[in-house]
Amino acid sequence: MNREVILKELEKIVGKEYATNRSEDLYIYSQDPGASLPRSVDFVVMPNTTEEVQAIVKLANQEKISIVPMGGGLTLSGLIIPVKGGIVLDMKRMNQILEINQFSRYALIEAGVTTGQIISHLNENFQDLQPPIPDAPPSATVAGNMLIHGSGYLSQKYGGHGAMINGLEVVLPNGEICKLGSCAVSDYWFDRGPIPDFIGLFISAFGTMGIITKLSIQLFPKPKMRDIVFGLMNSPKDIPNVLLKITATGYAEDILLGMQDKPEWMKGYIFIMTYITGDSEEDLDRQRKTLKRIYRKTNARFMKPSEKMKNLYLEKPIFAAGAADFRKGGGFEYVGAFMPLEKIPEAYEKGADLARKYGILPTLGSRLIGGVHTVVMFFSYSFNRADPKDMENAREALHETNKLALDLGGIPWKSELDGQKLILERIDPSYKKLMKTFQNALDPNKIMNSGNWEVN
Ligand SMILES: Cc1cc2nc3c(=O)[nH]c(=O)nc-3n(C[C@H](O)[C@H](O)[C@H](O)COP(=O)(O)OP(=O)(O)OC[C@H]3O[C@@H](n4cnc5c(N)ncnc54)[C@H](O)[C@@H]3O)c2cc1C
Repeated sequence: MNREVILKELEKIVGKEYATNRSEDLYIYSQDPGASLPRSVDFVVMPNTTEEVQAIVKLANQEKISIVPMGGGLTLSGLIIPVKGGIVLDMKRMNQILEINQFSRYALIEAGVTTGQIISHLNENFQDLQPPIPDAPPSATVAGNMLIHGSGYLSQKYGGHGAMINGLEVVLPNGEICKLGSCAVSDYWFDRGPIPDFIGLFISAFGTMGIITKLSIQLFPKPKMRDIVFGLMNSPKDIPNVLLKITATGYAEDILLGMQDKPEWMKGYIFIMTYITGDSEEDLDRQRKTLKRIYRKTNARFMKPSEKMKNLYLEKPIFAAGAADFRKGGGFEYVGAFMPLEKIPEAYEKGADLARKYGILPTLGSRLIGGVHTVVMFFSYSFNRADPKDMENAREALHETNKLALDLGGIPWKSELDGQKLILERIDPSYKKLMKTFQNALDPNKIMNSGNWEVN
């Protein structure tokens, strides 16, 4: 079929106003807010139901065109820009919150529900519950975030977001609709098992294993009170000791660390923010005292922030993306890397050296996931969007940072194509073989976000 005939077929499925191949519509979908170069898109389609998604997948198989599922498109690493052209499947119309279960504490939602939408819905209707969402802009989707092993302000205490998925409804690459988790057996979407757990196959797969249309996510009780205990360290070497001591208390809801040369007073320090929660002032006070003591004993010192600063960081999720404009021009991308705690001091030192080598202001940060089991390390680079050379410089810095993270025993997170290739170069051959087996079995026509996780 030629492009116009395919468009007509897509229009039949979703309606004329929700399928397009007009260049002025495709333009914005050919790029993302990160440093990737634009790539071409053939169609954008906005389905409204699982059955429409299914019909699109069947058509794509017939025509052997790639499909790229897209939520908010905010990963920054080009994951929703097609590598081999084809259809961008914009999920934003599938935005129904289907159920909030207060007993088993989960939300059953469609894949286009945004993080802003779920938090507003809970704030309005279920004030004692909070969702696990990232500190990303509110137009990010819950599904998009969970499907990339995302994390947020509840992750230190409760773990990574990928692990908080109770169940999925998926349109497989062959067009079949499949339910995963307890919902495959029961009317309740309250758990993943106890049956063979295939949900992990869809996480960090970047849409290559199928299109998620519904998901159940865990919800958590909302604390009555929250506070932050700020501290400063002189050297990254002190980080592991401080973190081991803090996490051993069991007090921290979230722990964020950072190092940046701007504003001037932060230069040379590692700052730490330990979030605590409680039912009363006395409760919080007891925790504050313990944490201050830990800071003192581990070479860190307590810092009293201004009320303005404290209030800014008490907002949950935090949305403080000032670093994006350090270089003027508004461009910003980071290598997030999952790292073992013992390598964090080196990651800070080498990460800062690397930023300086590329003439970029060092802006490093980290967040703990599940105690100290994983630290997500952020190596952020700002660039001027209007200057192609500056963007190229940032891309080179990002690439070298991916290598650094791998050399330090970490794994780049939500990796763009080059990063995926680096990971695949180092991955155990039997893992690669298993990936290929899954890909061939599920997607023989190689239509799902083609080019990503490409195993030869
Ligand atoms: C300022 C800023 C702050 C951020 N802070 C955080 C943070 O604190 N924590 C964090 O985890 N992330 C953070 N991020 C990264 C990212 O924005 C979020 O993780 C975001 O939630 C991703 O969701 P999305 O809807 O934009 O996903 P998208 O970019 O649309 O998609 C992500 C991936 O999932 C796939 N996908 C999307 N929907 C589906 C579906 N229905 N079926 C199958 N595959 C699908 C896409 O193909 C893509 O590969 C931040 C980003 C920015 C810009």
